[in-house]
Amino acid sequence: MPKVTLTFDNGPEPLVTPQVLDCLAQHDLKATFFVLGKKVIEPARARIAQRASADGHRIGNHTFTHTTPLGELDRTAALAEFDRTERALEWLLPAGAQPRRLFRPYGGSGALGPHLLHPAVVEKLEAGGYTCVLWNSVPGDWRDPDQWVNRALEDCRSRPWSLVVLHDLPTGAMAHLDEFIRRLFDDGVELTQEYPSDCVPLLDGKIVLPMAQYTSKP
Ligand SMILES: [Zn+2]
Repeated sequence: MPKVTLTFDNGPEPLVTPQVLDCLAQHDLKATFFVLGKKVIEPARARIAQRASADGHRIGNHTFTHTTPLGELDRTAALAEFDRTERALEWLLPAGAQPRRLFRPYGGSGALGPHLLHPAVVEKLEAGGYTCVLWNSVPGDWRDPDQWVNRALEDCRSRPWSLVVLHDLPTGAMAHLDEFIRRLFDDGVELTQEYPSDCVPLLDGKIVLPMAQYTSKP
């Protein structure tokens, strides 16, 4: 049975994320939300992420400003992108609301490569026992808010386990999330909150895939 893991990046957004949470609850699905530090630092948006966490979804650090991939920043700036977001998520960690500390780098329209990570951040992820979650399916919901579902379904049919990146952003794309989920079930897909191992170069602080492909030179 093919598997699909849903992740939602770049929120929380007050006009979108609660609807995404309602939709996932209707289908009894759990996902992961990779949030931006600059957003979740606002109390109203933090409350949305807290609701997601309480609903059983996982919350991960997706950088603070989400403007330049970490591998293209200097050491200080790269570490700040990570640390400032961790501080905005401090409410999450002591509660033990989720089993893992999660990080997803900013790719720039979903590109994978050595621009993703800075070696100083990799050290930090190792020392802190973080799990780094990448992706293998970026259907471009933000580019094509009304047409992304067919492309996403096609892509999910092309591999045994897809880790899909969607965006809880006010583009209109999430109005079609319910249809996407229904059609995945029609396809006989198993929806899971876990991650395929080829998308996880670091697991609980241990490097499990060659990191050079995702890390800039020091
Ligand atoms: Zn992003």
